[in-house]
Amino acid sequence: MNSVPNDNRIQSLFNHQEKAFLEGENRTYQERRGHLLSLRKLILENEDQILEALKKDLGKCQFEGIISETLFTIKEIDHTLKKLKKYMKKRWVFSPLLQFPVWSRIRPEPLGKILIISPWNYPFQLLMSPLIGALAAGNVVILKPSEVSEATSKVISELVPKYFPESVVGVVEGAVEETQALLSLPFDHIFYTGNGVVGKIVMEKAAQNLCPVTLELGGKSPCVIMGNNDLDLVAKRLAWGKFFNAGQTCVAPDYVLIQEELYPRFVENLKKYIEEFFGKNPKDSSDYGKIINKRHLKRLESYFDKKGDDLIFGGEVDEEKDYLSPTILRANVDSPSMKEEIFGPILPIISVANFDEALGAVRRHPNPLAAYIFSQDNHYIERFIEEVPSGGMCINDSLVHLTNPNLPFGGRGASGMGSYHGYKSFQTFSHMKSIMGRGTFLDLPVRYPPYKGKISLIRRLLSWFG
Ligand code: NAD
Repeated sequence: MNSVPNDNRIQSLFNHQEKAFLEGENRTYQERRGHLLSLRKLILENEDQILEALKKDLGKCQFEGIISETLFTIKEIDHTLKKLKKYMKKRWVFSPLLQFPVWSRIRPEPLGKILIISPWNYPFQLLMSPLIGALAAGNVVILKPSEVSEATSKVISELVPKYFPESVVGVVEGAVEETQALLSLPFDHIFYTGNGVVGKIVMEKAAQNLCPVTLELGGKSPCVIMGNNDLDLVAKRLAWGKFFNAGQTCVAPDYVLIQEELYPRFVENLKKYIEEFFGKNPKDSSDYGKIINKRHLKRLESYFDKKGDDLIFGGEVDEEKDYLSPTILRANVDSPSMKEEIFGPILPIISVANFDEALGAVRRHPNPLAAYIFSQDNHYIERFIEEVPSGGMCINDSLVHLTNPNLPFGGRGASGMGSYHGYKSFQTFSHMKSIMGRGTFLDLPVRYPPYKGKISLIRRLLSWFG
């Protein structure tokens, strides 16, 4: 890793890309398609190396690495390749007759120089998925992987120069200092994924250059279990969504609010599935990940008392191995685990008397990135959709809404601003230029001074011809 911040290298990479962009790099359909194919090739030719790095950083097993990082990215590339021509088309729109002879159209244009900053929990996908949109839209890009997932950052910085000219995609490794140096440059868009505290720093720095930002942040994503339900299936789906990547997923169900009569049966089913998935000792399971580092392990340990009554399952820690077993807590709205986003394999369960109490508990927190409801009762589902202001939602499952490229992915309020995936990514990294053209063979005199006596005619023409 570049441990010494190299401002010169950062500045010269930026200048190099700026010049390339001005000279028309990555504008044509063929060039954009070519770069997307290069990214595809990078993944296919080096998948083992990428998966190995993910294993080193997060103990990520091959299956989870493939479906949530490499294959996930390839599917997004394929979707974009299929639609790219259509995305790039200029779109004709209706013009007011009063302006006749006239035409109007919208032309998607690249924004220019893009900075993408990613976090450590899906360290490959969260850097490459926005890159797909940025390249498809015709931009040049600097990637800043997370220094916390060091092995993946290193692999990315080694591979990218083999598949891309630095004038189109460059990588800057590093931590706060390097990121701050990047943030002070006049990019045309900054795409940041990570926590909200740094999100505010990003926005502040970007404001100095009037640079637009996309902020993909986190939050406490609630999961409500209400009324009629197949509790066995609910527990199975939730155990998967919560303990995938050892709970270190931005849209992981953070806590459960469950109708009190369902509580005992749900907890028994949940324990059953944790054991079925990861065995009696998850530490020995090759399918269960590790906590990213000791700092995060310490943070997670502070959410529960190992000897307390609230710990109803798990809670085993091995500091040497950055291991925390899948853990279930009996909680209430004021428990330590309910103060901030958990971002780890701890699931607090709160029993509630009714749906209104559940909604009241959800409203104690800022808008979450995702919200989940498990129910067979439509009136609960409809109220949940209507009354919970979250980034996205999934009914009767968790996480899987992210796999649909036709659904924009992003937060709202404290969980972020802007969104991406599929066409939304292309839009995020494009400027939609409005263009009107007028013919010269007709020129109504009514708009020209002297104006005296013309306003009533203008009113009439506008009401007839819009
Ligand atoms: P992180 O520590 O890797 O930080 C993210 C990026 O910010 C890194 O590249 C890092 O170098 C940079 N950074 C850190 N401190 C900085 C500073 N002071 N100035 C400038 N740059 C700085 O990751 P994290 O923030 O711990 O990530 C976890 C958070 O991200 C969680 O809240 C999670 O919910 C959220 N997240 C959101 C999404 C999403 O798609 N919305 C996805 C994954 C994670």
